[in-house]
Amino acid sequence: MKDSYAVKPGTKVKLSDWDPEDTGDEFHSKKEAEKELERLRAKMRDLQEVMFAEDKHRLLIVLQAMDTGGKDGVIEHVMHGINPQGCQVTSFKVPTAEELAHDYLWRIHQAVPGRRYIGIFNRSHYEDVLVVRVHNLAPEKVWKQRYKQINQFEKLLSDTGTTILKFYLHISKDEQKRRLESRRDTPDKQWKFSFGDLKERQYWGAYMAAYEDALTRCSTPWAPWHIVPANKKWYRNLVIARTIVETLKSFDMKYPAPEEGVETAVVPD
Ligand code: ADP
Repeated sequence: MKDSYAVKPGTKVKLSDWDPEDTGDEFHSKKEAEKELERLRAKMRDLQEVMFAEDKHRLLIVLQAMDTGGKDGVIEHVMHGINPQGCQVTSFKVPTAEELAHDYLWRIHQAVPGRRYIGIFNRSHYEDVLVVRVHNLAPEKVWKQRYKQINQFEKLLSDTGTTILKFYLHISKDEQKRRLESRRDTPDKQWKFSFGDLKERQYWGAYMAAYEDALTRCSTPWAPWHIVPANKKWYRNLVIARTIVETLKSFDMKYPAPEEGVETAVVPD
């Protein structure tokens, strides 16, 4: 597997240069990779336990993708098994009237995890330079300023102790077609099928351009984007699990020191 799928700050992202079919050279099938994913999940559980106890770090994980890209799958398969007490998932939908009455980062800032928590954003402030741009929901003059504002906002979070991991789940247009057809044809998946997704698919090119700009302009040393090859779900899960485990390891965490005399404490009857 590549060391990292992180975008180097300052490089211009062309998504056609990033292969969504990539599965590295370490594993050749889902079956082989499954063991490794299980190992990583166990590691993640252990690390999260120390993170919760130590009460020092905050970790924010941002997930962005085209429809069917696998955000829900990542939350289910990668985060599965970690203690729900230390984890918060926030899904960002079309903003409410109250949210629209504020600046676009208002609802985002409130959902940033506090100390000891892992926060997962299912969609995020990036929608404000993606769907908003593609559908002209704000004038160009307005959304153009947002890249800089987002970088400054993420710098503030980083400077005040939040570690940020951003994952773009990169699927191909053909793969999206297969997944939409599978939703259409599978009774248990039909509830996920939305005619709205078919409409959005027509804007594929505009979305790719918007993603390329967001990935280029908002890959910073303090909050890099990772472009995750996501046509193969097992590989996508592996890349993300590894990146999260490496990040948690880098926190170099310790359980807090126990109260003095704990070993000899007598528990009264
Ligand atoms: P998901 O596709 O994430 O599973 P939904 O089907 O409910 O969930 O879609 C959420 C919708 O909210 C998406 O179409 C997304 O583009 C939209 N959305 C999220 N944030 C914004 C925003 N800031 N402005 C406009 N639309 C947004």
